[in-house]
Amino acid sequence: MDALAGLPEATLLRDPASMEPFLRDESHVRGPHPLAVVRPHGPRALRELVRLAKAEGFGLVPRGAGTGKAGGCVPTERTVVVDFSAWPGDIRVSPQDLCLHAPASAPLRDVKAAAESQGLFYPPDPNSWESCSLGGTLATNAGGPNACKYGMTRHWVLSVEALLEDGEIHTFGISSVKANAGPALGQLLIGSEGIFGFIVGATLRLMPLPREYATLLLPVKHWEDLLDLPGRLCGAGFLPSAFEFFDPAVLAELRAHGPEEARRLPGEALAILEFDERGCTSEPFLEALHDLLGPVAEGLVIASDARQRNGIWAVRRMTSAFLKERHPKKVSEDIVVPRSRLRDFFAGLDQLGIPAVTYGHLGDGNLHVNLLAAGETEPALLAGQLMGLFRLAVSLGGTLSGEHGIGLAKREAFLALSDPAQLQALRAIKHALDPAGIFNPGKVI
Ligand SMILES: Cc1cc2nc3c(=O)[nH]c(=O)nc-3n(C[C@H](O)[C@H](O)[C@H](O)COP(=O)(O)OP(=O)(O)OC[C@H]3O[C@@H](n4cnc5c(N)ncnc54)[C@H](O)[C@@H]3O)c2cc1C
Repeated sequence: MDALAGLPEATLLRDPASMEPFLRDESHVRGPHPLAVVRPHGPRALRELVRLAKAEGFGLVPRGAGTGKAGGCVPTERTVVVDFSAWPGDIRVSPQDLCLHAPASAPLRDVKAAAESQGLFYPPDPNSWESCSLGGTLATNAGGPNACKYGMTRHWVLSVEALLEDGEIHTFGISSVKANAGPALGQLLIGSEGIFGFIVGATLRLMPLPREYATLLLPVKHWEDLLDLPGRLCGAGFLPSAFEFFDPAVLAELRAHGPEEARRLPGEALAILEFDERGCTSEPFLEALHDLLGPVAEGLVIASDARQRNGIWAVRRMTSAFLKERHPKKVSEDIVVPRSRLRDFFAGLDQLGIPAVTYGHLGDGNLHVNLLAAGETEPALLAGQLMGLFRLAVSLGGTLSGEHGIGLAKREAFLALSDPAQLQALRAIKHALDPAGIFNPGKVI
């Protein structure tokens, strides 16, 4: 498309080979070739892109680092991919205001490191934190192990700068936790997967860095013993900053084929528990925890130093990539059920006969249910299995996505399982903010 050739403040990729990496993300979804990939370097590029998209009738698909698992940044027909990796700006920490400002292009790794360099903490920690962009985490409202205690990305956003359909960048919110002058429109953009506008920067809330960590490996002989623990811990006043688990199948695969650290992992199934409040490494705290866990605590191992802690987390953080490498066509879901319904969920999964292995964020009921044989399963059967899984989660008071979002991968299920009144409200908001339908068309709704 010739109109794109004169775009100011932008790099343009147009040959099919250089656009190839932009056809997919980390989900199983692959899109068609886009009209072009544009890397904006400044607001003039975005202004002109919006004008052209409306005039020429093409869509704009925002992309961060492409680590998403729902096909959200994958191009659809007649779209231009807008790759935010070159969007300018520095990370600025304000210890007085306990906040940090960063551009959407900032790697999440750098955002977290900038906070830590001042003794401060930005809790959101998707397991892709070393490779994803801040913009992608804002657009997907990313979670991660720490969400168990600290909540999702949206709970840490004070203000957002976003490109709207007028082609201009607008700021929503202020650099303070207290801001109540009307509904928080900025929160509409967090988790919107780029369908209302594009995020170019944000001010994030920080807190003092935890000074102590108690990181525990909890192997169990009967894996169902883990299922009541998140609820029991919370009910007794313990709030782990992370509570992750591997079911027997995932643990066996890690032990047999994983990295060196994984080969020695104990148990039929395994949980990783972490606490980060003051006093969590003290004897009284650990004794009280031991008492609460009861016989399940028999094989409990406490990480004795930072090296051991890092080793435990390294295994957890590589699990998704490890399984993907071994089962390239697997489908990985991220359903949620309330902590109190975990046992019912697994009983339901058994009844449905869905051949799945599971690991993930047990502490907040967000489970990565992986269908490893998806590539070899007949498509209609696979679709039925996934719908069964989603319906089960919803029937237990949960939802079909706890952190990855809807994108393209879960759109059909989202439309089928959502309250029609809520879908209508969403469409009305989409129409009000994006009447020409240029922002990430075909995604979510
Ligand atoms: C190994 C692995 C582990 C993961 N673990 C987790 C986890 O624990 N928790 C979790 O939540 N996710 C996890 N993810 C999923 C993914 O990494 C996160 O969703 C991450 O936030 C995506 O960031 P990204 O920069 O790669 O975004 P992309 O994949 O590029 O985009 C994600 C979505 O955001 C939109 N988008 C991107 N940038 C913008 C922007 N500037 N403005 C508007 N919309 C935009 C895209 O269109 C797309 O819809 C994991 C992924 C992998 C591969």
